[in-house]
Amino acid sequence: MFKKLKILDEKDKHLRKISDEVVFPLSDKEKQLIKQIIENLTYSQIESLAEKYKLRPGMGLAFPQVAINKRVIVIVHEYEDGKFDNYVVVNPKIVSHSEEIIATDAGEGCLSVNRDVEGHVKRFARVTIEGFDEHGNKLKIRAREELSIAFQHEIDHLNGILFYDHIDKKHPFITDGSIRLI
Ligand code: ZN
Repeated sequence: MFKKLKILDEKDKHLRKISDEVVFPLSDKEKQLIKQIIENLTYSQIESLAEKYKLRPGMGLAFPQVAINKRVIVIVHEYEDGKFDNYVVVNPKIVSHSEEIIATDAGEGCLSVNRDVEGHVKRFARVTIEGFDEHGNKLKIRAREELSIAFQHEIDHLNGILFYDHIDKKHPFITDGSIRLI
């Protein structure tokens, strides 16, 4: 049976804390929660199910958004129409990144931010992430474009940062060609 997640709003204090490193093993409750997050994110990207369960579309979630200040992120990436890759990364770290900076032209969204915040969010075009899977096995992931942005957005959550913190309030849109808009 589908269990809809309770996602915290941006005003909640959990979202502004620096989360703690995870010590393995994860508890059964935490493993169950990861499954639930994957299901919610997947359903939210399938139109009929998103409508049925009233889910806002989203591709990523971090533990602080469900009131747990531990360093776990989950990304469900639709890499092809109707096909999804799941990424669960515990204690993720960006170990290298491109020089090139990108931003999504439409701006970013967040399941904890229930309003539109306009502006370009500068992100690395490519990142390499290291961390662990939920069983404690070492992971190394190379991500580019939209997926790279998702990793940077979710890792920010572990450090109490929200996407709009990166937006220049005086000049929210970058039009000088210094970054590539996707
Ligand atoms: Zn977010």
